[in-house]
Amino acid sequence: MLKKTKIVATVGPASEKEDVLRQMIINGVNVFRLNFSHGTHEYHKNNLESIRKVAKELNVRIGILQDISGPKIRTGELKTPFELKKNDKLDFYREKIIGEQITNNHYKISINQSEILNMLKLDEYIYLYDGSIRAKVTAIDSEKIETVIENDGFLNSNKGINFPNTKINIDVITKKDRDDLIWGIQNEVDFLAISFVQNAHDINQVREILIKNNAKIAIFAKIEKFDAVENIDEIIASSDGIMVARGDLGIEVPYYKVPNIQKEIIHKANNASKPVITATQMLFSLAKSKTATRAEISDVANAVLDGSDAVMLSEESAVGIDPANAVDIMCQTIIETEKHYPYNKFNDFENLDNTDKVMRSSANLANNLNTSAIFSLTSSGKSALKISRYRPNMEIIAVGHSEKTLNSLSIVWGVNPAILINKSSALTELLKDAVKSAVEKGFIKEDKCYLLTAGFPTGIEGTSNLIRILEKEQISYYLK
Ligand code: PGA
Ligand code: MN
Repeated sequence: MLKKTKIVATVGPASEKEDVLRQMIINGVNVFRLNFSHGTHEYHKNNLESIRKVAKELNVRIGILQDISGPKIRTGELKTPFELKKNDKLDFYREKIIGEQITNNHYKISINQSEILNMLKLDEYIYLYDGSIRAKVTAIDSEKIETVIENDGFLNSNKGINFPNTKINIDVITKKDRDDLIWGIQNEVDFLAISFVQNAHDINQVREILIKNNAKIAIFAKIEKFDAVENIDEIIASSDGIMVARGDLGIEVPYYKVPNIQKEIIHKANNASKPVITATQMLFSLAKSKTATRAEISDVANAVLDGSDAVMLSEESAVGIDPANAVDIMCQTIIETEKHYPYNKFNDFENLDNTDKVMRSSANLANNLNTSAIFSLTSSGKSALKISRYRPNMEIIAVGHSEKTLNSLSIVWGVNPAILINKSSALTELLKDAVKSAVEKGFIKEDKCYLLTAGFPTGIEGTSNLIRILEKEQISYYLK
């Protein structure tokens, strides 16, 4: 394993060809993101099949993240684009209308989810076109919301709207999202990213759909609303992972607050042993250029140092001029940054249960013994996650009997989910299988030292209570 921090890359028109996907995997992608804000089920099915085919050929474990689009609020249709000027008036009609200019400096529109207009109060702000235009609510009546534009800007049909001061309390799982979720369940994706999450209830709703359909998929909450930041503790507790979705987040909260919020969320997710992805505009220039700015390279490096499990490419890989190049630049940056990484220094965490204490001791012990790797026998993935939290400098090799569990670890910092073994209730059998397979795959050399953790009795999720040190004698014992 060349690097420990994982790369998530969005698939799109620029990257859907098998040759491109292959090169992206070779250059360091661990997880592909299918963005359900665009494309049909058939489109995503084709991409999914290409990814699985290429991953199989290359014999690597690649995770699939399905990004559920959620209730993106947009402007309705406009007759012609508006060239808005500061102090112009813009009215939001409750009824669906075609947007148009009324007088010289007065315009009217409607939005795709007009019920949100009911939640607005005087003096609150509405941001239009990905945050580029700010409007202030000045009057409210039964027909419309009146606003005044605070800066010049260009407005078009179907452009994103944010309400950074308004708790809109809408259902984040739309009818489309429900259909998309069923697609994801049927096609066995490994991760679901849920957009515009507001609180734990939103996550629990998705969890219910999964339970009803007897599906086990890791749920990632995209933190991109101001109320999600306020409710971050309950959201982390209810989800399996987090995405710091800085695009919409930087509109919902003042943009200059994003770096500290990123650090805080990453630390909280690390503390809870929940994988965390830092996303959006990381290498944005690469959408149109062959080289990234120094600032962008630093952004990737700093996200790694903050404790991200994974960093993500969006436009850069979905519609950029050279997705494989974007992955390569990201990967080189990670590798270099990890040469000066605070390994084993991630330790100001709470012990939330006994497994945390065992894993803390395991990471310390592996560090003291300077082992060449840590083998984590894990049925649910929890113990591998909990050992990853200490950011040890040796590779963590996950050993499990469930493909699904191993796939779910593809996004986790420092974990190589490489060894699939048969389920067995006899501990010695399990250890024999694990060691044999590790030797065959070249993960164990006889003259090196290794640490292995497992749960006993076997097969009980979330109990790691056994530590074995493997040296020459133990390795040959298990190989007999
Ligand atoms: P999106 O989410 O790409 O689906 O908008 C990421 C973000 O808002 O940063
Ligand atoms: Mn977003």
